[in-house]
Amino acid sequence: MSALGESPLAAGDRQLSVAQAREAIAAALRPITDTQEVALEQALGRVLARDVISPIDVPAHDNSAMDGFAFAGEALAASGPTRLRVVGTLMAGAPHRGTVGGGECVRIMTGAVMPAGLDTVVPLELCRSEGDEIVIEPGVLRAGENRRRRGEDLTAGRPALRRGRRLRPADLGLAASVGIGRVRVLRPLRVALFSTGDELRTLGQTLDPGCVYDSNRYSLLGALQRLGMDVVDLGLVPDDRAALQATLAAAVAQADVVLTSGGVSMGDADYTREVLAAMGEVGFWKVAMRPGRPFAFGALRRPGGQPPSCLFALPGNPVAALVSFYALAREALLQLAGAEPEPLPILQARCSSAIRKRPGRTEFQRAVVEPTSQGHWQVRLTGSQGAGVLRSMCEANALLVLGHDQGSVAAGDFVDVWLFDGLV
Ligand code: AMP
Ligand code: MG
Repeated sequence: MSALGESPLAAGDRQLSVAQAREAIAAALRPITDTQEVALEQALGRVLARDVISPIDVPAHDNSAMDGFAFAGEALAASGPTRLRVVGTLMAGAPHRGTVGGGECVRIMTGAVMPAGLDTVVPLELCRSEGDEIVIEPGVLRAGENRRRRGEDLTAGRPALRRGRRLRPADLGLAASVGIGRVRVLRPLRVALFSTGDELRTLGQTLDPGCVYDSNRYSLLGALQRLGMDVVDLGLVPDDRAALQATLAAAVAQADVVLTSGGVSMGDADYTREVLAAMGEVGFWKVAMRPGRPFAFGALRRPGGQPPSCLFALPGNPVAALVSFYALAREALLQLAGAEPEPLPILQARCSSAIRKRPGRTEFQRAVVEPTSQGHWQVRLTGSQGAGVLRSMCEANALLVLGHDQGSVAAGDFVDVWLFDGLV
């Protein structure tokens, strides 16, 4: 069994567009299937393993959508005012006893059950009281208005939520609204994460000359946590065959996915390719994107007959690592976690300046999207766009995406934007 099926993607070096890379990755993935049951309080962001079937109609009874007076709509006079005698008051949660006759109405609160035979509610503000009567002027209301029908939201026996959904706050409320307190979800995807590079130092270590702190592990940890993944942090790995071998072995022993950043992606050192080739099927891709190259993707064998782990090896430059993560790994990880694909919302905004670009690669520029006084969205680039300038990500609230076939952009042109909110 292979996580990559019969895909040819592992074969050697390939030059791919971002779209081709994403397609090849998506086609190769085998989502996890292990499930667990959790209480609603723990279910936010988890992926539903089964449809949630509503055991009841919601609402369970016809009820009033407004504070007002309920009556039989046929009583509305064709011309002239309608007069109705008020014969009682109904609170939410207290069923009506007794009958309401022709020419009569009951004072009713929002959510209160409609008495039998009544189908219309006139809101308080659309009628006036005269003694024990109300008066409705002609034309303010039609029969049947302001009544919520039984089963209007949800029907008993029908799915209230579909499997594959990443549960949002309103979904938790919806499950609760049908009396369901526990849901079956997929277990979290386990992702082993490590950084490679002799020049990297971990927090707390002295920064020797020529060294940098390992920042990618923290950016990527945050990105994974946002997606609800279980992260196994395997720390730093020096540029060394035995260390890489040992860490990869520890990674596949524990995790569905291995996510790395740094030299390993390029296979620049011969031993990297050898180690990966010995452990599975990995393709070293030149993805036509900026920032981003190089990138490697493939399957690594696991002990004990388990399905293989998926390897995503990202470039080392801090911006390139994150952009590659969002462009190539994010959706794939969600798919592996069993979630239905949720395409990223793409905003169109006017570009505040001209940008030079040649067709043939996708460019992701760090940008700030802001509303203009004319009420539309404008996008401007944040300072330096160097692949190592992490600050450009922090100052940005969006990525400006220039498509593979797109050429230069003039100031004022509409461009595609991925907002960080929701993405990162
Ligand atoms: P590499 O892909 O290993 O050639 O790395 C490209 C650049 O990114 C080099 O300047 C590295 O020092 C830097 N880099 C690699 N990994 C990390 C990391 N984990 N944190 C910060 N910078 C890194
Ligand atoms: Mg390196």
